[in-house]
Amino acid sequence: MAIFVKAEARSIVPTIWGDLELIVYSNSATDDEHIVALSPKPPVGDPLVRVHSECITGEIFGSLKCDCGDQLQDALKQIATNGGAVVYLRGQEGRGIGLSNKIRAYKLQEDGLDTIDANLELGLPVDNRDFTVAAAILLDLGFKEIRLITNNPAKVDALKASGVNVTEVVPQIVGITEENENYLSTKRDRLGHTLPRDLGHEPHKHEN
Ligand SMILES: [Zn+2]
Repeated sequence: MAIFVKAEARSIVPTIWGDLELIVYSNSATDDEHIVALSPKPPVGDPLVRVHSECITGEIFGSLKCDCGDQLQDALKQIATNGGAVVYLRGQEGRGIGLSNKIRAYKLQEDGLDTIDANLELGLPVDNRDFTVAAAILLDLGFKEIRLITNNPAKVDALKASGVNVTEVVPQIVGITEENENYLSTKRDRLGHTLPRDLGHEPHKHEN
């Protein structure tokens, strides 16, 4: 069934990266509201886009187990500078398994399982995200051809399959820490993410 999206409200908001228009979308499939941050700057060439899944642990609580917070801020900065949009998908916590299951999987990771085997141990999919809603939002914005900020080839394929052509993939190497190095190398080695062989994490950002 096709997902219908609707822009419900929009306003230009001053941010630390400059003015961005925030547009709230509803969708016909779930109760989740999604948020687009759209740069008022006209893009040079195809617009730069990041499709970003909500991550409360990384973005709100400063968890170092993933790189989501840094990825989101870097993407907002890039689109504010160069034009384009960040499509922020709510309801896709933990690659779509939900917040409780994500924390259950973290508990298993305390005992040594990696991010993939922890999901499988819980009887859950490795990646349960649905990017058709992101494609529907991009098409509503008039973004049929985009340059996508991602390290995830599956995201490129999913958007293409839903009618959004990715003309360039822009890799994003930010937020690598001692605590998420294993998580990122698992995504590189087992999910095909385009990350460097040597992750060379940055120094600690938190006080011990
Ligand atoms: Zn995260």
